[in-house]
Amino acid sequence: ARKPLMAGNWKMNNTYAEAVVLAQTISNNFDKHWTDSVDVLVCPPSIDLKPVNTVFEFDHQPIQIGAQNVYWEPKGAFTGEVSVPMLKDVHCTCSIVGHSERRGYFGETNEDVNRKVRALLDGGLYAVACVGESLSVRDEGGAEEFVCAQVRAAFAGLEPEEAGKCVVAYEPIWAIGTGRTATPEQAQDMCAAIRATLADMFGAETADEMRILYGGSMNVGNVEQLLAQPDIDGGLVGGASLKADQFVQLVKACL
Ligand code: 13P
Repeated sequence: ARKPLMAGNWKMNNTYAEAVVLAQTISNNFDKHWTDSVDVLVCPPSIDLKPVNTVFEFDHQPIQIGAQNVYWEPKGAFTGEVSVPMLKDVHCTCSIVGHSERRGYFGETNEDVNRKVRALLDGGLYAVACVGESLSVRDEGGAEEFVCAQVRAAFAGLEPEEAGKCVVAYEPIWAIGTGRTATPEQAQDMCAAIRATLADMFGAETADEMRILYGGSMNVGNVEQLLAQPDIDGGLVGGASLKADQFVQLVKACL
């Protein structure tokens, strides 16, 4: 039985003060015993990682923080980037990598994603590796092949024990921020195909342990049906994670 993971991706939202208020409101409405049965992760902009974590640590809330992106070199002349040791230093447990917005707007390649996964694992953090197809790829019937190739590329060269620490997030691009969620069947079919790919790469036992999240307009209205699918182990939530009450409800849906 896999422990579900509910993750909020705040993307490029909130001022410093707003981030602290949102973290504090989540914390105030959070029962720490929930994490006996669900892992909870918040991914604010990197500038807010430290203050958000301070809120959770002060309240003794077992809520993880993670970055939305990371660079693979540990330090040096890489203007604008943030490294794994820096994330570790502010108590991040992980980073999202390969989000479709990073791939689409910032030119991230499958190879970049693989380097980031490698660097995170070498530094003792795990990766939440995002995969997902565009509407045109889906309409042409190539979605499964496209997404499974992204999975293979992201985790290329890993040992099963390393892959086993990582999380995959299936986020169909056409469902992100559009209010158009994948149907539970569409999401399940793809997550099952992803798990089969992981089994082929790392063995059935590792694939069975790995969590696969769904992302794309997940909200309090559709979360139950999505989580009821056998290969969906949680969510990577954008818009609905920016409202404390909604995010807390999504966490409770995993209990
Ligand atoms: P929305 O939940 O806003 O559709 O965003 C999904 C997403 O991209 C999470 O990483």
